[in-house]
Amino acid sequence: MRTDSLKILMLEDNATDAELVQRLLLKQGLNHTFKVSIDRAEYVTALKNFKPDIILSDHSLPEFNSTEALKIGRSLFPKIPFILVTGAASEEFAAEIIKSGADDYILKDRMTRLPSAIKAAVQQRITEKEKLEALELARNQIELAKERERVAMEAANIGIYDYDLGTGALVTSSRCNEIFWFKETRARSEYLALMHPDDIEIRNKAFGQSKITGRLSYELRIIKPDKSIAWIRVEGIVHKNKQGTPERIIGSILDITEFKYLLHQKDNFIAVASHELKTPLTTLKAYTYILKQNFYNKKNDRNEIFIKKMERQINKLSLLVHNLLDSNEIISGELTSNDLYFNIDTAVTEVVTELKLSSDKKIVMELAAPDCKVCADKDKIEQVMINLINNAIKFSPGADKIIVKTRSESNEVVFGVEDFGIGIKDENIKKIFQQFYRDDNDLGYTFPGLGLGLFISSEIVKKARGKIQVKSKKGKGSIFSFSLPCVRT
Ligand code: ADP
Repeated sequence: MRTDSLKILMLEDNATDAELVQRLLLKQGLNHTFKVSIDRAEYVTALKNFKPDIILSDHSLPEFNSTEALKIGRSLFPKIPFILVTGAASEEFAAEIIKSGADDYILKDRMTRLPSAIKAAVQQRITEKEKLEALELARNQIELAKERERVAMEAANIGIYDYDLGTGALVTSSRCNEIFWFKETRARSEYLALMHPDDIEIRNKAFGQSKITGRLSYELRIIKPDKSIAWIRVEGIVHKNKQGTPERIIGSILDITEFKYLLHQKDNFIAVASHELKTPLTTLKAYTYILKQNFYNKKNDRNEIFIKKMERQINKLSLLVHNLLDSNEIISGELTSNDLYFNIDTAVTEVVTELKLSSDKKIVMELAAPDCKVCADKDKIEQVMINLINNAIKFSPGADKIIVKTRSESNEVVFGVEDFGIGIKDENIKKIFQQFYRDDNDLGYTFPGLGLGLFISSEIVKKARGKIQVKSKKGKGSIFSFSLPCVRT
């Protein structure tokens, strides 16, 4: 439908009036094709064959009138605009016909308004049509987005739930039910009943925290009807009302049994590999020691150098294996701790004296906690110190010194290592203590290591009721530090 070339159907038994209207429209420059019907039969045929863009209708015709014409027009083509063009009409009648769906009415003695009324009525239909089309398009896009989301969820095997904290009502997707071996949504208590009794506390804790943090996240085991175990990961977002009271939790449930199995496989592999490596290494170490003694006695300098190199490599290997073993103990919750009281500054001095022997960098000591004793596993805390100092040396290839510091703060002692090396990007700092995490540096070469030292260090410090942290600036350097509870002597 266009306003610049219109098909106009006029229902009018007075030929002069019809001609008058047509002339007026031409005079006003309204480009159109005009058809006149003089009675009901012609009107119905013209509606079907001529397919007008707009209907102009006189009110009373022989055995026909505008009210009926409007009814027929609307029933056949509900969207065609209809304007009553009449010699005389009471206000009530005009109101009535507009109420019945006519777009406008024009009195024959005020015909000049007709062209603009036609344009306005047609334009309104065009606007309505465009609005409808836009609405339809938006609806289709929403449907498409929903469909895409549904397919993606299905492909990822994600179950969805919506839990009303006020009423306790629960809505779940079919995948969500499937994960719990249900055919349809059940009461919330039935889902909870499948959770492993030893893991219920994990859920309760996460649930409690979610009301503060706004996010729910936990992993736990569920017991299948055949008594086997499946792992699920539950995520959710807490929706609050205007007063800030939590109202609903909406989120996802994922079956992570396969993922957990692979993790277990990996841990198993590390356990086996490290044990297998440990035995030959121990033997090798013993024979190297004996050989070294023999060569010393024979004063064979060249062999002595080779043996020393061999020994260094074996020590590196041995450190790797120990790291793997430690990491494994941590994962299986078997990290032991032989706690005793020791002076932290003395321990630092011992560690640094030892490391100075093999380091080409200056290790500056600034110790300020002479009276602080900590109760922890001394070997393990020294292992953390060694790891942090070795990292500082390793990751500052262009610098000539590192600084090792201690200080005491109320009931704590803080140990820190500062380097002026490659530093760490802000966004990677939070990952630095993860098992096997190694930062990608853009220096074009890689530093040796398995990404276990900081993971082990952080677990050791945690076990000793301490905190480990890092401050770092890419390209400038890093300060790794840990604090431990201490007593003063
Ligand atoms: P490894 O050094 O054996 O790879 P770590 O767990 O000790 O493992 O360290 C993990 C990662 O953290 C390193 O690979 C490195 O990218 C980064 N990192 C650790 N210490 C420093 C440091 N002092 N400066 C810059 N990056 C560091």
